[in-house]
Amino acid sequence: MNYTTLQLAKITNSQLIGNENLHVQSIAYDSRIIFSTIDTAFIALNSFKNSGEKYINDVIEKGVCIIISAHQIFDHPNITWIITENTTHFLQKLAKYHFENCHLKSIGITGSNGKTIVKEWLYQCLWDEFPTVKSPKSFNSQIGLPLSLLQIEKKHQLGIFEVGISKPGEMKILEEIFSPEIGILTHIGTAHSINFESEKEIIDEKLKLFKESRVIIFNGDNDLLYSTLTQLYSDRILISYGKNPRNSYHLLSDWSTSANDIKVKHNEEEFSFPVKVRTEAIVLNALCVIAVLKYFNFNLDKIVSKLNAIKSVEMRLESVEGTRNNLIINDSFNLDIDSLQIAYQFIKEYQKDRKVLILTDIIDVKEEPEVLYPFVAKLTNEQNFDKIFLVGNKITKYSELFSNEVLCFETTEELIDNQELNKIENAIILLKGARKFEIDRLKLTLELQKHDTVLEVNLNNMLHNINVHKALLKPETKVMAMVKADSYGLGGYEIAEFLQHHRIDYLGVAFVDEGIDLRKKGITVPIMVMNPEQQSYNSIIDFNLEPEIYSLRVLKQFTDKLQEKGVETRYPVHIKLETGMHRLGFKSWELDELILLLSQKNLVVKSIFSHLSSADDEDQKEYTLNQIKVFTQNSDKIISALKYPVLRHILNSSGIANYTDFQFDMVRIGIGMVGISPNKTIEKQLKSAVSLKTVISQISEIKEGESVGYNRKFIANSSTKVATIPVGYADGIPRLIGNGVGKFGVHKVLKPIIGNICMDMIMLDLGDLVANEGDEVIIFNENPSLKEFSSYCNTIPYEVLTSISRRVKRVYIKD
Ligand SMILES: *Cc1c(COP(=O)(O)O)cnc(C)c1O
Repeated sequence: MNYTTLQLAKITNSQLIGNENLHVQSIAYDSRIIFSTIDTAFIALNSFKNSGEKYINDVIEKGVCIIISAHQIFDHPNITWIITENTTHFLQKLAKYHFENCHLKSIGITGSNGKTIVKEWLYQCLWDEFPTVKSPKSFNSQIGLPLSLLQIEKKHQLGIFEVGISKPGEMKILEEIFSPEIGILTHIGTAHSINFESEKEIIDEKLKLFKESRVIIFNGDNDLLYSTLTQLYSDRILISYGKNPRNSYHLLSDWSTSANDIKVKHNEEEFSFPVKVRTEAIVLNALCVIAVLKYFNFNLDKIVSKLNAIKSVEMRLESVEGTRNNLIINDSFNLDIDSLQIAYQFIKEYQKDRKVLILTDIIDVKEEPEVLYPFVAKLTNEQNFDKIFLVGNKITKYSELFSNEVLCFETTEELIDNQELNKIENAIILLKGARKFEIDRLKLTLELQKHDTVLEVNLNNMLHNINVHKALLKPETKVMAMVKADSYGLGGYEIAEFLQHHRIDYLGVAFVDEGIDLRKKGITVPIMVMNPEQQSYNSIIDFNLEPEIYSLRVLKQFTDKLQEKGVETRYPVHIKLETGMHRLGFKSWELDELILLLSQKNLVVKSIFSHLSSADDEDQKEYTLNQIKVFTQNSDKIISALKYPVLRHILNSSGIANYTDFQFDMVRIGIGMVGISPNKTIEKQLKSAVSLKTVISQISEIKEGESVGYNRKFIANSSTKVATIPVGYADGIPRLIGNGVGKFGVHKVLKPIIGNICMDMIMLDLGDLVANEGDEVIIFNENPSLKEFSSYCNTIPYEVLTSISRRVKRVYIKD
């Protein structure tokens, strides 16, 4: 897009204060990821959780001088303001105008799953036929769709956009902005169904997108969808695909077992196409792409060659711990300008001292090298890498355009053989390479010893889970994330860093060491320490940690230490009240003395809190309500004596779910982040954030009467297949779940553990399941879930997570 400030104000009916003639080529909405401030306007979007206006000062500091906002928060001659009542509506109005005036062929994709994959695959098949624009990542929401549409430029002939909704009424708004000529509906599932009464309601809502479409291409396996759509839109060109024979394109062979290409029938024509990975979703998404390409009149040979060239769409970036305290971000799945920008955004979230980039030639893009590489260099120069490794004979020709220390290599081998890589320390290393360079191989040089068994933490799901809990609370209620015991064994720093980036209010740790570790690695949010040991008061103060004060003894000792160290300012502390847990805390009869001491000492009480013993237990409601009552009375008493504002909090994750009314000023979330809740309705909305997985080391056939494992505890009563996996009790899998008690997922089917669990290995009975050595085994994630796994172990998820031993590598995933 390219509009002047005056045009923007006119198009959207907004008020302009300042310069009428500034050009705006992009609109930034997140103050943290502004790449370039030239011709950029910042839009202060407001959500029910947050106001974008808080960040206006940040972006002005970065150099942005055009602000779109509901309020002009100050007056300055260099800042131009576009004032609009509702910034979301502004974006939507502008996008509608922009789309309508660009006149390009458009594809709109909606559905519960598969939108992003189908969009990316279509893009890969079509970009060299027409200049094409697509939604970045999975931008498809009330804000994401308008931002995507604003990326359309004059040169584009085709636009492929995702449209996502999560609540009734949303599609109407999006359909008014964007009415695609070709509509695609990928799949109707239960995702987001929590906000809808029925399947019918979801279908009706989604179908609104196609009001103006000429062609509708849809997965026709769902009966209700099929009948609704064919009736409602009988006057359009309808093309359906799926497993059911009524569809225009339907699968003939049993795709899941047949080793050959997948057979499809279309009208009277039969043809087959190649698919390497076969899950139902992948096969159906491929079928959808075929239907679109056929509609574009591609012949079969061309379609097959396009499908063969499709690269898998890995939308996620992996981060792994490397040698020499490096953190490696591996994004070697695809390389284009979009994905490069996304990767640059991603690494901004880390606070490592040094940043290193490994970047290869970019292939498969239309731009000429003399346009492409200077642009790449400009984008890269804004990121301030300490060192850049360029690989390939094209990009290295432009090495002098990169303003940092640059090393050039013709091939990946040359780079591996070079010793420079081994000199990198304490850095974040971004690997970004086109597939043919196989820079994946560098991971071997850079990474610590790799294990097949990993505990994978999905940080986006964790954030989603926090937001599900936050949605239950008042917008002003603060959230403390409990990251004690290394975030329940998942890794303290990685999680704290991510939460800090997403502006968590407080962190809670158990011991001072944990807090020090976070501070040393750059965590600056307030941290409460629940067990401040006497020996560690010095460090508490040196590292600006906030102790929980739970007794008169601790209060006196800590204030003595403050005096001894000559701390002048009033030091922040948290007062813990005993209300029924009988663990730590001030009892009711100690309050008078507490209040007296607090008023004399060099302290400021940041918060008063207590802990519920049974918030997850319906039968203990009366006890819990009594705890809350005691807490209210006793904290009231202290606060009225202190005469300054103090935060109060008592709810943990299950408290948030079951006793929302007693949220006070803050809540403390722990296990809820992982995806566990005592409340079924809430748990349904949560996503599993942790999975423990490994791979099959060996598969053996055993005959009737043969035994498996130590002491021959399993004897086969007929011949069967046994899979050995490389985890055992030394990894934290309790020995008591051997001999049929526990079951792990292999190809989504639960298979029982047989025989005794060994120190480093476990055997599973595969029965007649088709599986190969090297295939993935899920110890817990969705099937079995963490809760199910915990019940095999006769314990609770908390103990399971904190028992996974240190030798299991933690891997963090962000979308
Ligand atoms: C661990 C802890 C929490 C978090 O509990 P969850 O059940 O994991 O939500 C909250 N408050 C205190 C005092 C804790 O120790």
